[in-house]
Amino acid sequence: MNIPFATFAPMHHEIEEALNNAYRRVVEKGIFIQGEECRCFEEEFAAYCGTKYCIGVGNGLDAITLILRAMNIGRGDEVIVPSNTYIATALAVSNVGATPVFVEPDIRNYNIDATKIEEKITTKTKAVIAVHLQGRPADMDAINEIAERYGLRVVEDCAQAHGARYKGIRVGGLSDAAAFSFYPGKNLGALGDGGCVVTNNGELAEHIRYLGNYGSDYKYHHIFKGYNSRLDEMQAAFLRVKLPYLEHWNEERRNIAERYFSGISNKNMIMPPCSSEEFEHIYHVFVIRNNKRDELERYLLDKGIHTLKHYPVPMHMQQAYADMNIEEGKLPVAEEISKTVLSIPMYYGMSTEEIDYIIEQMNNYK
Ligand SMILES: *Cc1c(COP(=O)(O)O)cnc(C)c1O
Repeated sequence: MNIPFATFAPMHHEIEEALNNAYRRVVEKGIFIQGEECRCFEEEFAAYCGTKYCIGVGNGLDAITLILRAMNIGRGDEVIVPSNTYIATALAVSNVGATPVFVEPDIRNYNIDATKIEEKITTKTKAVIAVHLQGRPADMDAINEIAERYGLRVVEDCAQAHGARYKGIRVGGLSDAAAFSFYPGKNLGALGDGGCVVTNNGELAEHIRYLGNYGSDYKYHHIFKGYNSRLDEMQAAFLRVKLPYLEHWNEERRNIAERYFSGISNKNMIMPPCSSEEFEHIYHVFVIRNNKRDELERYLLDKGIHTLKHYPVPMHMQQAYADMNIEEGKLPVAEEISKTVLSIPMYYGMSTEEIDYIIEQMNNYK
């Protein structure tokens, strides 16, 4: 058998006609930026998230960057970020001129360890970015409680968690403002780059909308030194086709996860946290850990099973962050995770045979 790490084929096959119609609708209308499609998608996605506002932007990294800019976070400020996340979370902080301060994750669920946030707070700390990594919500009550006590803003990075719920509330509505990415491989993905910010704060929403449109409040009138970061009409139209299916696709991922949980019995595989009522997981990726990860990777590839590592090099060990001079060993949990993680196939439309085959090969691994 040959099983890709992920494929869009089953998903896009089912909605092909609707995608084609969306494409034709946009071309016929002849409006490609800042039209009806984006405006409607913003309304529909805000309703889905249960937030008042949604602002379409160019991608997930821009979404975080624009939130921080709108919060007036910049040079001399510190922002707490998890040491275990995709680098975009930290890059957004760096790109506004502020300093990311890394806090270790809880190795049981890979999200920021809220009990380790307080010791990293200084007089320069302005905000905490909570990432719902792998599709599992971070412990927002604990994070919000600390933030409130110290007067910090809270930002959610929801790039991996479209539709996940924390204590019954959708991610995106659990902080001052939240960033989403619609990179094609995310649980809700465009057919290109895309992103958005959701918030209940009208002032932030307006500021972010202006910043993403050259700092302009109306045509050729600029009140901020802004960016060009907008969700284009074509991507918004595709996202409008896909949004109504998101719940179903997430449910399918949870079903695949359930199969993995009940089927994989190899004691050498450290399994990810299960979805629960309080922490509703949407399994953006299904990440196991193994002490001989690289051997396992080769073994599975030999069996035709393609895997990925989320992520093989922690941010503080990246050349991009060499200037922070954080030595190896300083963030041991993030380092341990980077050495042992392996993401096994997880995508909408996996067949029963494929899932069973993966379980079998995982159990056969010595
Ligand atoms: C994908 C991702 C981003 C960035 O999104 P882009 O649209 O690729 O810019 C940010 N944070 C996390 C956690 C991500 O997984």
